[in-house]
Amino acid sequence: MKITFCGAAGTVTGSCHLIDVDGLRILLDCGLFQGAHEQDQSNQAPFPFDAKSIDFVLLSHAHLDHAGLLPRLVRDGFSGRILSTRPTAEIARLMLADSAHLQVEDAAYRTRKAKRRGEPSVPPLYNMDDVLRCVELFQSVDGYDAAISLKNGVTCAFHDAGHILGSACVELRTSNGNLLFSGDLGNGHRPIVRDPSVPPHADVVLVESTYGDRQHRTLEESVAELDEAIQTVITRGGNLLVPSFALERTQEVLYEIFQAWQGKSLPHCKIYVDSPLATSTTRVFERFLDYFDDEGRRVFAARPNPFEFPALEYVETMDESKRLNAQPGGSVIIAGSGMCNGGRIVHHLRHNLSNDKAGVVFVGYQAAGTLGRMLVDGAKSVHIFGESVAVQAKIWTVNGFSSHADQLGLIDWLKETSAKRLFLVHGEPATLEDFRSVITRELSVEPHIAVWKETVDV
Ligand SMILES: [Zn+2]
Repeated sequence: MKITFCGAAGTVTGSCHLIDVDGLRILLDCGLFQGAHEQDQSNQAPFPFDAKSIDFVLLSHAHLDHAGLLPRLVRDGFSGRILSTRPTAEIARLMLADSAHLQVEDAAYRTRKAKRRGEPSVPPLYNMDDVLRCVELFQSVDGYDAAISLKNGVTCAFHDAGHILGSACVELRTSNGNLLFSGDLGNGHRPIVRDPSVPPHADVVLVESTYGDRQHRTLEESVAELDEAIQTVITRGGNLLVPSFALERTQEVLYEIFQAWQGKSLPHCKIYVDSPLATSTTRVFERFLDYFDDEGRRVFAARPNPFEFPALEYVETMDESKRLNAQPGGSVIIAGSGMCNGGRIVHHLRHNLSNDKAGVVFVGYQAAGTLGRMLVDGAKSVHIFGESVAVQAKIWTVNGFSSHADQLGLIDWLKETSAKRLFLVHGEPATLEDFRSVITRELSVEPHIAVWKETVDV
Protein backbone atom coordinates (compact mmCIF):
# COMPACT_ATOMS: atom_id res chain seq x y z
CA MET A 1 0.00 0.00 0.00
CA LYS A 2 1.25 3.49 -0.90
CA ILE A 3 0.06 6.72 0.68
CA THR A 4 0.64 10.12 -0.94
CA PHE A 5 -0.16 13.17 1.16
CA CYS A 6 -1.72 15.65 -1.26
CA GLY A 7 -2.90 18.22 1.31
CA ALA A 8 -3.40 18.93 5.04
CA ALA A 9 0.27 18.02 5.49
CA GLY A 10 1.88 20.61 7.78
CA THR A 11 -1.32 22.67 7.55
CA VAL A 12 -4.93 22.39 8.76
CA THR A 13 -6.63 22.71 5.38
CA GLY A 14 -6.64 21.01 1.97
CA SER A 15 -7.29 17.49 3.35
CA CYS A 16 -6.46 14.99 0.58
CA HIS A 17 -4.62 11.66 0.76
CA LEU A 18 -4.12 9.22 -2.08
CA ILE A 19 -4.07 5.50 -1.30
CA ASP A 20 -2.74 3.08 -3.94
CA VAL A 21 -3.70 -0.45 -2.95
CA ASP A 22 -4.85 -3.69 -4.62
CA GLY A 23 -4.90 -2.06 -8.05
CA LEU A 24 -7.15 0.77 -6.86
CA ARG A 25 -6.52 4.47 -6.48
CA ILE A 26 -8.57 5.87 -3.62
CA LEU A 27 -8.66 9.47 -2.44
CA LEU A 28 -9.48 10.21 1.17
CA ASP A 29 -11.09 13.69 0.94
CA CYS A 30 -10.37 16.37 -1.63
CA GLY A 31 -10.39 19.65 0.28
CA LEU A 32 -9.72 23.31 -0.37
CA PHE A 33 -6.71 25.10 1.03
CA GLN A 34 -8.06 28.00 3.10
CA GLY A 35 -6.78 30.98 5.06
CA ALA A 36 -3.20 32.03 4.38
CA HIS A 37 -2.63 28.97 2.19
CA GLU A 38 -5.39 30.12 -0.13
CA GLN A 39 -3.13 32.88 -1.38
CA ASP A 40 -0.22 30.58 -2.17
CA GLN A 41 -1.94 29.14 -5.24
CA SER A 42 -2.23 25.66 -3.68
CA ASN A 43 -5.80 25.36 -4.94
CA GLN A 44 -4.69 26.16 -8.50
CA ALA A 45 -1.63 23.88 -8.43
CA PRO A 46 -2.04 20.68 -10.46
CA PHE A 47 -3.01 17.65 -8.37
CA PRO A 48 0.03 15.40 -7.73
CA PHE A 49 -1.90 12.62 -9.53
CA ASP A 50 -3.98 12.20 -12.68
CA ALA A 51 -7.61 12.92 -11.71
CA LYS A 52 -8.79 10.44 -14.38
CA SER A 53 -6.90 7.62 -12.66
CA ILE A 54 -8.83 7.88 -9.36
CA ASP A 55 -11.41 5.12 -8.80
CA PHE A 56 -13.09 6.32 -5.58
CA VAL A 57 -13.21 9.28 -3.27
CA LEU A 58 -14.15 8.46 0.32
CA LEU A 59 -15.34 11.71 1.87
CA SER A 60 -15.06 12.08 5.66
CA HIS A 61 -17.37 15.09 6.00
CA ALA A 62 -18.77 18.15 4.27
CA HIS A 63 -16.44 20.92 5.50
CA LEU A 64 -14.87 22.66 2.50
CA ASP A 65 -11.31 21.98 3.67
CA HIS A 66 -12.22 18.31 3.14
CA ALA A 67 -14.65 18.46 0.20
CA GLY A 68 -14.06 21.81 -1.51
CA LEU A 69 -11.79 20.68 -4.37
CA LEU A 70 -14.10 17.86 -5.53
CA PRO A 71 -15.60 19.96 -8.36
CA ARG A 72 -12.06 20.72 -9.59
CA LEU A 73 -11.28 17.01 -9.48
CA VAL A 74 -14.31 16.43 -11.70
CA ARG A 75 -13.28 19.30 -14.00
CA ASP A 76 -9.87 17.58 -14.30
CA GLY A 77 -11.50 14.33 -15.48
CA PHE A 78 -12.46 12.32 -12.39
CA SER A 79 -15.49 10.14 -13.14
CA GLY A 80 -15.43 7.58 -10.33
CA ARG A 81 -17.71 7.48 -7.31
CA ILE A 82 -17.71 9.71 -4.23
CA LEU A 83 -18.85 7.78 -1.17
CA SER A 84 -20.03 9.48 2.02
CA THR A 85 -22.75 9.29 4.64
CA ARG A 86 -26.15 10.62 3.59
CA PRO A 87 -26.03 13.88 5.64
CA THR A 88 -22.52 14.56 4.30
CA ALA A 89 -23.74 14.22 0.70
CA GLU A 90 -26.71 16.53 1.35
CA ILE A 91 -24.67 19.17 3.14
CA ALA A 92 -21.74 18.95 0.68
CA ARG A 93 -24.15 19.82 -2.13
CA LEU A 94 -24.97 23.15 -0.39
CA MET A 95 -21.38 23.89 0.60
CA LEU A 96 -20.03 23.23 -2.91
CA ALA A 97 -22.73 25.33 -4.59
CA ASP A 98 -21.89 28.21 -2.25
CA SER A 99 -18.17 27.70 -2.89
CA ALA A 100 -18.67 27.74 -6.69
CA HIS A 101 -20.47 31.05 -6.35
CA LEU A 102 -17.51 32.49 -4.38
CA GLN A 103 -14.99 31.05 -6.87
CA VAL A 104 -16.76 32.72 -9.79
CA GLU A 105 -16.92 36.05 -7.92
CA ASP A 106 -13.27 35.79 -6.94
CA ALA A 107 -12.21 35.03 -10.53
CA ALA A 108 -14.19 38.04 -11.81
CA TYR A 109 -12.43 40.27 -9.25
CA ARG A 110 -8.99 38.91 -10.19
CA THR A 111 -9.80 39.29 -13.87
CA ARG A 112 -10.66 42.99 -13.41
CA LYS A 113 -7.31 43.50 -11.67
CA ALA A 114 -5.43 41.49 -14.32
CA LYS A 115 -7.05 43.43 -17.18
CA ARG A 116 -5.82 46.71 -15.66
CA ARG A 117 -2.30 45.31 -15.86
CA GLY A 118 -2.91 44.06 -19.40
CA GLU A 119 -2.80 40.43 -18.24
CA PRO A 120 -5.16 37.63 -19.37
CA SER A 121 -8.39 36.89 -17.50
CA VAL A 122 -8.41 34.47 -14.55
CA PRO A 123 -10.76 31.46 -14.84
CA PRO A 124 -12.62 30.32 -11.69
CA LEU A 125 -11.31 27.26 -9.90
CA TYR A 126 -14.70 25.73 -10.74
CA ASN A 127 -18.24 26.85 -11.44
CA MET A 128 -21.77 25.60 -10.84
CA ASP A 129 -21.63 23.22 -13.85
CA ASP A 130 -18.67 21.43 -12.25
CA VAL A 131 -20.59 21.20 -8.98
CA LEU A 132 -23.63 19.72 -10.73
CA ARG A 133 -21.47 17.08 -12.44
CA CYS A 134 -19.76 16.42 -9.12
CA VAL A 135 -22.93 15.82 -7.09
CA GLU A 136 -24.05 13.26 -9.68
CA LEU A 137 -21.05 11.13 -8.66
CA PHE A 138 -22.07 11.04 -5.00
CA GLN A 139 -23.21 7.72 -3.61
CA SER A 140 -24.49 8.03 -0.07
CA VAL A 141 -24.33 5.39 2.59
CA ASP A 142 -27.05 4.94 5.23
CA GLY A 143 -26.02 4.90 8.88
CA TYR A 144 -22.57 4.04 10.19
CA ASP A 145 -20.23 1.04 10.46
CA ALA A 146 -21.51 -1.18 7.61
CA ALA A 147 -18.82 -2.65 5.32
CA ILE A 148 -19.17 -1.43 1.73
CA SER A 149 -17.52 -3.39 -1.06
CA LEU A 150 -15.51 -1.18 -3.42
CA LYS A 151 -13.61 -3.38 -5.94
CA ASN A 152 -10.80 -5.97 -6.06
CA GLY A 153 -11.75 -7.23 -2.58
CA VAL A 154 -11.25 -3.83 -0.93
CA THR A 155 -14.01 -2.70 1.43
CA CYS A 156 -14.58 0.51 3.35
CA ALA A 157 -16.66 1.57 6.34
CA PHE A 158 -17.68 4.94 7.78
CA HIS A 159 -17.56 5.25 11.58
CA ASP A 160 -19.08 8.15 13.51
CA ALA A 161 -16.40 10.82 14.07
CA GLY A 162 -18.71 12.99 16.21
CA HIS A 163 -17.30 16.16 14.58
CA ILE A 164 -20.27 17.56 12.63
CA LEU A 165 -23.52 16.06 11.40
CA GLY A 166 -22.72 13.04 9.20
CA SER A 167 -18.96 13.18 9.84
CA ALA A 168 -17.00 9.95 9.66
CA CYS A 169 -13.68 8.25 10.23
CA VAL A 170 -12.97 6.16 7.16
CA GLU A 171 -11.76 2.57 7.42
CA LEU A 172 -10.24 0.75 4.43
CA ARG A 173 -9.82 -3.04 4.57
CA THR A 174 -7.33 -4.32 2.00
CA SER A 175 -5.14 -7.34 1.31
CA ASN A 176 -2.30 -5.20 2.76
CA GLY A 177 -4.05 -4.64 6.10
CA ASN A 178 -6.46 -2.07 7.44
CA LEU A 179 -6.07 1.68 7.18
CA LEU A 180 -8.03 4.12 9.32
CA PHE A 181 -8.35 7.81 8.53
CA SER A 182 -9.68 9.93 11.40
CA GLY A 183 -11.14 12.67 9.20
CA ASP A 184 -11.81 15.42 11.74
CA LEU A 185 -12.42 13.91 15.13
CA GLY A 186 -15.08 15.37 17.43
CA ASN A 187 -14.75 16.71 20.91
CA GLY A 188 -17.27 14.53 22.75
CA HIS A 189 -20.14 15.74 24.99
CA ARG A 190 -21.35 18.16 22.33
CA PRO A 191 -24.91 19.19 21.63
CA ILE A 192 -26.61 17.58 18.61
CA VAL A 193 -23.79 15.26 17.42
CA ARG A 194 -23.03 11.98 19.12
CA ASP A 195 -19.66 11.29 20.72
CA PRO A 196 -17.05 9.79 18.38
CA SER A 197 -17.54 6.03 18.20
CA VAL A 198 -14.81 3.67 19.46
CA PRO A 199 -12.56 3.16 16.43
CA PRO A 200 -11.69 -0.28 15.05
CA HIS A 201 -8.14 -1.67 15.29
CA ALA A 202 -6.03 -0.68 12.31
CA ASP A 203 -2.53 -1.36 11.01
CA VAL A 204 -2.09 2.12 9.58
CA VAL A 205 -3.70 5.26 11.00
CA LEU A 206 -3.82 8.79 9.60
CA VAL A 207 -4.87 11.09 12.42
CA GLU A 208 -5.80 14.77 12.42
CA SER A 209 -3.73 16.95 14.77
CA THR A 210 -5.54 20.32 14.87
CA TYR A 211 -5.45 20.55 18.68
CA GLY A 212 -2.76 17.92 19.30
CA ASP A 213 -0.90 20.36 21.56
CA ARG A 214 -3.66 21.55 23.92
CA GLN A 215 -6.62 20.79 26.14
CA HIS A 216 -9.93 22.56 25.58
CA ARG A 217 -11.78 24.47 28.20
CA THR A 218 -15.06 22.76 29.04
CA LEU A 219 -18.19 23.49 27.07
CA GLU A 220 -19.88 24.77 30.27
CA GLU A 221 -17.23 27.50 30.67
CA SER A 222 -17.63 28.47 27.04
CA VAL A 223 -21.41 28.61 27.23
CA ALA A 224 -21.03 30.83 30.34
CA GLU A 225 -18.69 33.12 28.35
CA LEU A 226 -21.17 33.34 25.47
CA ASP A 227 -24.00 34.14 27.91
CA GLU A 228 -21.82 36.80 29.55
CA ALA A 229 -21.02 38.38 26.18
CA ILE A 230 -24.73 38.53 25.27
CA GLN A 231 -25.67 40.02 28.68
CA THR A 232 -22.87 42.61 28.59
CA VAL A 233 -23.42 43.85 25.06
CA ILE A 234 -27.22 43.79 25.00
CA THR A 235 -27.60 45.54 28.37
CA ARG A 236 -25.27 48.37 27.34
CA GLY A 237 -27.23 48.81 24.13
CA GLY A 238 -24.90 47.45 21.45
CA ASN A 239 -25.05 44.65 18.90
CA LEU A 240 -23.22 41.40 19.44
CA LEU A 241 -21.67 39.81 16.34
CA VAL A 242 -20.96 36.10 16.22
CA PRO A 243 -18.83 35.18 13.18
CA SER A 244 -19.81 31.60 12.68
CA PHE A 245 -19.33 28.72 10.30
CA ALA A 246 -22.61 27.87 8.57
CA LEU A 247 -22.22 24.21 9.27
CA GLU A 248 -22.52 22.86 12.82
CA ARG A 249 -21.18 25.85 14.76
CA THR A 250 -24.20 28.01 13.91
CA GLN A 251 -26.55 25.18 14.94
CA GLU A 252 -24.62 24.63 18.20
CA VAL A 253 -24.65 28.33 19.06
CA LEU A 254 -28.41 28.40 18.42
CA TYR A 255 -28.75 25.36 20.67
CA GLU A 256 -27.02 27.17 23.55
CA ILE A 257 -28.84 30.48 23.04
CA PHE A 258 -32.12 28.55 23.02
CA GLN A 259 -31.22 27.01 26.39
CA ALA A 260 -30.73 30.54 27.78
CA TRP A 261 -34.02 31.69 26.23
CA GLN A 262 -35.87 28.72 27.68
CA GLY A 263 -34.23 29.24 31.08
CA LYS A 264 -35.30 32.91 30.89
CA SER A 265 -31.71 34.11 31.33
CA LEU A 266 -31.50 35.60 27.82
CA PRO A 267 -31.89 39.40 27.94
CA HIS A 268 -34.56 40.91 25.72
CA CYS A 269 -32.99 40.82 22.25
CA LYS A 270 -33.43 39.53 18.75
CA ILE A 271 -31.26 36.69 17.40
CA TYR A 272 -30.54 36.87 13.67
CA VAL A 273 -29.04 34.14 11.54
CA ASP A 274 -27.76 36.27 8.67
CA SER A 275 -26.40 33.61 6.36
CA PRO A 276 -28.44 31.89 3.65
CA LEU A 277 -25.97 28.98 3.76
CA ALA A 278 -26.38 28.57 7.53
CA THR A 279 -30.15 28.69 7.08
CA SER A 280 -30.22 26.03 4.35
CA THR A 281 -27.79 23.87 6.34
CA THR A 282 -30.06 24.16 9.37
CA ARG A 283 -32.95 22.89 7.21
CA VAL A 284 -30.86 19.81 6.30
CA PHE A 285 -30.18 19.17 10.01
CA GLU A 286 -33.93 19.06 10.63
CA ARG A 287 -34.23 16.18 8.16
CA PHE A 288 -31.61 14.00 9.86
CA LEU A 289 -32.75 13.87 13.47
CA ASP A 290 -31.89 10.15 13.52
CA TYR A 291 -28.18 11.16 13.34
CA PHE A 292 -28.56 13.35 16.48
CA ASP A 293 -27.64 12.16 19.97
CA ASP A 294 -30.45 11.15 22.36
CA GLU A 295 -30.76 14.55 23.97
CA GLY A 296 -30.73 16.31 20.60
CA ARG A 297 -33.59 14.12 19.34
CA ARG A 298 -35.61 14.88 22.47
CA VAL A 299 -35.01 18.65 22.30
CA PHE A 300 -35.81 18.88 18.60
CA ALA A 301 -38.96 16.75 18.81
CA ALA A 302 -40.58 19.65 20.73
CA ARG A 303 -41.80 23.11 19.64
CA PRO A 304 -40.31 25.63 20.22
CA ASN A 305 -36.80 24.26 19.69
CA PRO A 306 -33.33 25.71 18.99
CA PHE A 307 -34.11 26.22 15.29
CA GLU A 308 -37.58 27.75 15.79
CA PHE A 309 -38.25 30.03 18.74
CA PRO A 310 -39.82 33.49 19.01
CA ALA A 311 -36.58 35.50 19.50
CA LEU A 312 -34.97 33.92 16.42
CA GLU A 313 -35.17 35.22 12.88
CA TYR A 314 -33.52 33.97 9.68
CA VAL A 315 -32.35 36.79 7.40
CA GLU A 316 -32.63 35.92 3.72
CA THR A 317 -32.00 38.84 1.37
CA MET A 318 -29.16 41.36 1.20
CA ASP A 319 -31.67 44.17 1.79
CA GLU A 320 -32.83 42.54 5.03
CA SER A 321 -29.21 42.11 6.02
CA LYS A 322 -28.45 45.79 5.33
CA ARG A 323 -31.44 46.81 7.45
CA LEU A 324 -29.73 45.23 10.45
CA ASN A 325 -27.03 47.90 10.15
CA ALA A 326 -29.59 50.59 10.93
CA GLN A 327 -30.19 49.05 14.36
CA PRO A 328 -27.91 50.65 16.94
CA GLY A 329 -28.26 47.78 19.42
CA GLY A 330 -30.30 44.94 20.82
CA SER A 331 -29.34 42.32 18.26
CA VAL A 332 -27.23 39.17 18.29
CA ILE A 333 -26.14 38.66 14.69
CA ILE A 334 -24.77 35.25 13.70
CA ALA A 335 -23.21 35.53 10.23
CA GLY A 336 -20.52 34.00 8.07
CA SER A 337 -17.82 33.58 7.18
CA GLY A 338 -16.50 32.09 10.39
CA MET A 339 -13.04 33.63 9.94
CA CYS A 340 -14.39 36.98 8.64
CA ASN A 341 -12.53 36.66 5.33
CA GLY A 342 -15.74 37.25 3.37
CA GLY A 343 -19.51 37.09 3.66
CA ARG A 344 -22.06 39.29 5.42
CA ILE A 345 -20.17 39.37 8.73
CA VAL A 346 -17.62 41.74 7.15
CA HIS A 347 -20.35 44.37 6.59
CA HIS A 348 -21.57 43.98 10.16
CA LEU A 349 -18.00 44.34 11.44
CA ARG A 350 -17.56 47.53 9.44
CA HIS A 351 -20.71 49.00 11.04
CA ASN A 352 -20.07 47.84 14.61
CA LEU A 353 -16.34 47.49 15.31
CA SER A 354 -15.74 51.15 16.12
CA ASN A 355 -18.71 51.24 18.54
CA ASP A 356 -17.54 50.70 22.12
CA LYS A 357 -20.98 49.35 23.09
CA ALA A 358 -20.74 46.54 20.53
CA GLY A 359 -19.07 43.17 20.89
CA VAL A 360 -17.75 40.27 18.82
CA VAL A 361 -17.64 36.70 20.06
CA PHE A 362 -15.36 34.30 18.22
CA VAL A 363 -16.53 30.72 18.64
CA GLY A 364 -14.31 29.02 16.07
CA TYR A 365 -10.77 28.51 14.84
CA GLN A 366 -9.19 31.61 13.25
CA ALA A 367 -6.49 30.73 10.72
CA ALA A 368 -3.37 32.88 10.39
CA GLY A 369 -3.82 35.74 7.94
CA THR A 370 -7.60 36.14 8.34
CA LEU A 371 -9.44 39.22 9.60
CA GLY A 372 -10.81 37.06 12.42
CA ARG A 373 -7.30 36.17 13.56
CA MET A 374 -6.26 39.84 13.58
CA LEU A 375 -9.20 40.71 15.85
CA VAL A 376 -8.53 37.74 18.14
CA ASP A 377 -4.87 38.82 18.33
CA GLY A 378 -5.98 42.26 19.56
CA ALA A 379 -5.56 44.49 16.50
CA LYS A 380 -6.37 48.14 17.38
CA SER A 381 -7.51 48.86 13.84
CA VAL A 382 -8.20 46.74 10.77
CA HIS A 383 -8.71 47.32 7.06
CA ILE A 384 -12.18 46.57 5.75
CA PHE A 385 -13.11 47.30 2.12
CA GLY A 386 -10.04 49.51 1.82
CA GLU A 387 -10.89 51.63 4.88
CA SER A 388 -9.21 51.68 8.25
CA VAL A 389 -11.68 50.80 11.04
CA ALA A 390 -10.76 51.39 14.70
CA VAL A 391 -11.54 48.43 16.96
CA GLN A 392 -13.53 49.75 19.95
CA ALA A 393 -15.90 46.81 20.33
CA LYS A 394 -15.18 44.23 23.02
CA ILE A 395 -13.75 41.00 21.62
CA TRP A 396 -14.38 37.62 23.23
CA THR A 397 -12.62 34.43 22.17
CA VAL A 398 -14.52 31.37 23.30
CA ASN A 399 -12.47 28.25 22.63
CA GLY A 400 -14.58 25.49 24.13
CA PHE A 401 -17.02 25.34 21.22
CA SER A 402 -14.46 23.43 19.24
CA SER A 403 -15.80 20.53 17.26
CA HIS A 404 -12.28 19.01 17.24
CA ALA A 405 -10.95 16.61 19.85
CA ASP A 406 -8.22 18.03 22.07
CA GLN A 407 -4.93 16.27 22.87
CA LEU A 408 -6.50 13.97 25.44
CA GLY A 409 -9.38 13.06 23.11
CA LEU A 410 -6.96 12.31 20.25
CA ILE A 411 -4.69 10.16 22.43
CA ASP A 412 -7.63 8.18 23.86
CA TRP A 413 -8.93 7.56 20.35
CA LEU A 414 -5.47 6.52 19.10
CA LYS A 415 -5.04 4.04 21.97
CA GLU A 416 -8.16 2.20 20.80
CA THR A 417 -6.79 1.78 17.26
CA SER A 418 -3.59 -0.10 18.34
CA ALA A 419 -1.95 1.43 15.26
CA LYS A 420 1.35 -0.06 14.05
CA ARG A 421 2.10 2.82 11.69
CA LEU A 422 0.92 6.31 12.48
CA PHE A 423 0.87 9.41 10.31
CA LEU A 424 0.05 12.88 11.62
CA VAL A 425 -1.92 15.09 9.25
CA HIS A 426 -4.07 18.24 9.49
CA GLY A 427 -2.02 20.31 11.95
CA GLU A 428 0.20 23.38 12.04
CA PRO A 429 3.96 22.67 12.26
CA ALA A 430 4.54 23.52 15.94
CA THR A 431 1.43 21.57 16.99
CA LEU A 432 2.54 18.54 14.98
CA GLU A 433 5.93 18.49 16.73
CA ASP A 434 4.34 18.73 20.20
CA PHE A 435 1.77 16.07 19.36
CA ARG A 436 4.47 13.75 18.04
CA SER A 437 6.44 13.92 21.30
CA VAL A 438 3.33 13.29 23.39
CA ILE A 439 2.39 10.25 21.28
CA THR A 440 5.93 8.87 21.43
CA ARG A 441 5.74 9.14 25.22
CA GLU A 442 2.22 7.74 25.65
CA LEU A 443 1.94 5.09 22.92
CA SER A 444 4.30 2.39 21.72
CA VAL A 445 4.51 3.82 18.22
CA GLU A 446 6.72 6.47 16.63
CA PRO A 447 4.50 8.74 14.50
CA HIS A 448 5.56 10.26 11.21
CA ILE A 449 4.59 13.83 10.36
CA ALA A 450 3.17 13.82 6.84
CA VAL A 451 4.95 15.99 4.27
CA TRP A 452 3.08 17.56 1.35
CA LYS A 453 3.35 15.45 -1.86
CA GLU A 454 5.45 12.80 -0.09
CA THR A 455 4.71 9.14 -0.90
CA VAL A 456 5.25 6.46 1.74
CA ASP A 457 5.17 2.67 1.43
CA VAL A 458 3.39 0.86 4.24
ZN1 LIG B 1 -14.09 19.55 9.75
